[in-house]
Amino acid sequence: MSCGASPRDHHPVRKRRQRLLPTLALPRRLPDFPILIETPDLTPWEKGNNGIAGVIERDSGMPGPEITVVSLIHGNEFAGAAASDRLLREDIRPICGVLRFVFANMAAFRRFNPENPTASRFIAEDLNRVWSHDRLDLPPGSVEMERAIELLPIIQRSDLLLDLHSMLWESAPLFISPQTERSIALAGMLSSRSDTQFLTLTDLGHVGGARLIEHERFMAASGAPASVLLEAGQHWRPETVEISARVIRQFVDNAAFLHFGARHTDNGAAHQATVTDNVVARSASFAFTEPYQGGHVIQSAGTVIATDGEDEICTPYDHCVLIMPNLCVRRGQLAVRLARRL
Ligand SMILES: [Zn+2]
Repeated sequence: MSCGASPRDHHPVRKRRQRLLPTLALPRRLPDFPILIETPDLTPWEKGNNGIAGVIERDSGMPGPEITVVSLIHGNEFAGAAASDRLLREDIRPICGVLRFVFANMAAFRRFNPENPTASRFIAEDLNRVWSHDRLDLPPGSVEMERAIELLPIIQRSDLLLDLHSMLWESAPLFISPQTERSIALAGMLSSRSDTQFLTLTDLGHVGGARLIEHERFMAASGAPASVLLEAGQHWRPETVEISARVIRQFVDNAAFLHFGARHTDNGAAHQATVTDNVVARSASFAFTEPYQGGHVIQSAGTVIATDGEDEICTPYDHCVLIMPNLCVRRGQLAVRLARRL
């Protein structure tokens, strides 16, 4: 289904619909997502061992980078916390420098209820939209802001940071990094490993506020600190825990190598893409033409992937990657991101 050729291969993403198009009858309420993993028992880590609750430190005693593995920024995304818990119980240690595990929004995690599994993403506000100066400098107005300010000293000392997330809808795993050379190199290093060859994405940020990976420490034009976010798969599937554990190991085992300036020379770039468009649903009748999964590649520019009221949504270029399509999107929400392979 093509809208035809376009000048210089950038077809408009949104245009007025000229014909009736078949679309999916999408659910207006979320379907039931099965919970196939146990909620991890995090009681050994609740108090922490360095003065901050939910922060566990492993010091090698050797000089080296301070590296941080964050999970539970979103309380209902506990696959990353389950992987962190397992590796801590196996007594994972850094080769040099200091390794810290942060269980970020424990308060929201404790509220997880399998009967309503999406409700415990946060308590008062999204902990992954608050990491800018203008928010962090204000007196905290929510549980999440209090926690962000409590965790700030850890973030401000992190040379390398891995933030573990997962996705509600089925999707291929992917890495998201800020648009700095060093963070792209970190993502490229992780995705060049044979068992974690996922797409690495740079994107347009989030309109709702700065994510943890966008804290100024990682965004400065100069300096070494780098950050990457892993979307490891569907929230409550066992393979999402396995992927998170593999990526944590790669991150810990290769941190020193990256930190001390070794250029990564492998094929990470083969998996790179950049988000060019955030498609927000403008109507309540937004509907995809197929039940697309994240990571799906649409071969031709101008292919209609969704309708939105009187508009149709088209791919702007050939080989367009659909990032995390939301098959139950509501008006005003992000429906899908469109990415161009580099
Ligand atoms: Zn998340």
